[in-house]
Amino acid sequence: MADCPNKEKNLKNCPCTYEPCSRKGKCCECISYHRSLGQKPACMK
Ligand code: SF4
Repeated sequence: MADCPNKEKNLKNCPCTYEPCSRKGKCCECISYHRSLGQKPACMK
């Protein structure tokens, strides 16, 4: 799958400190993942 075209821009505003995460900068994947767990991602806390 092609990488997210917004990734670099998203990373500039990402407050998440969990560095090894593969979803970092791919906000749709990040939100979907945390939503499935009943959580909010770091940027929504
Ligand atoms: S908030 Fe969660 S899914 Fe999003 S980048 Fe951080 S650890 Fe990854």
